Amino acid sequence: MPPRNQSGSRNPNHRHGMHGTKVYTAWQQMRHRCKKDPRYVANGTKVCPEWESFADFYAYIGDPPSDDHSVDRIDPFGNYEPGNVRWATRLEQSRNFRVHKEREPHTAVAERHGLHPQTYAYRVKNGIPLSKSTDLRKTHCVHGHELSKDNVYVCKRGKRHCKTCRRNRARKLREKRRS
Ligand SMILES: [Zn+2]
Repeated sequence: MPPRNQSGSRNPNHRHGMHGTKVYTAWQQMRHRCKKDPRYVANGTKVCPEWESFADFYAYIGDPPSDDHSVDRIDPFGNYEPGNVRWATRLEQSRNFRVHKEREPHTAVAERHGLHPQTYAYRVKNGIPLSKSTDLRKTHCVHGHELSKDNVYVCKRGKRHCKTCRRNRARKLREKRRS
């Protein structure tokens, strides 16, 4: 058991005395979402291993510029990892939010496929097609990226797609918007 620190806590994440601050709460919520929120689980959104440590997360992102700021993913399809998170205001996030809002709720999609929501989430997370098909035989995408477990996501229609290509498309879109 780890020793108690000055504040009397044995939790190593309490050592920095940041417990209860906005950034600490944001860190807790980020991890909670990725483990428990079915939408995040279904999309396979993860927190990178380094950020299981609050200190490492804090070292990267620092304090929020204001109370209106919250942790935002730059690429909404990407993970919580260095290069893809920032502090952003609600207004700055609204564009990403719109994209998410227009998506059909995952429970509705599961129902359409005749699957239990948890079965649906499991299949999407592990890149298993929603229905058995020849789609499973494909080992590479049209651009030659390997359709490995980590590089596959399942769309609403139950097909497997390449995550690398999706990331590239999202990046191109962002570059287009910027110019
Ligand atoms: Zn690809």
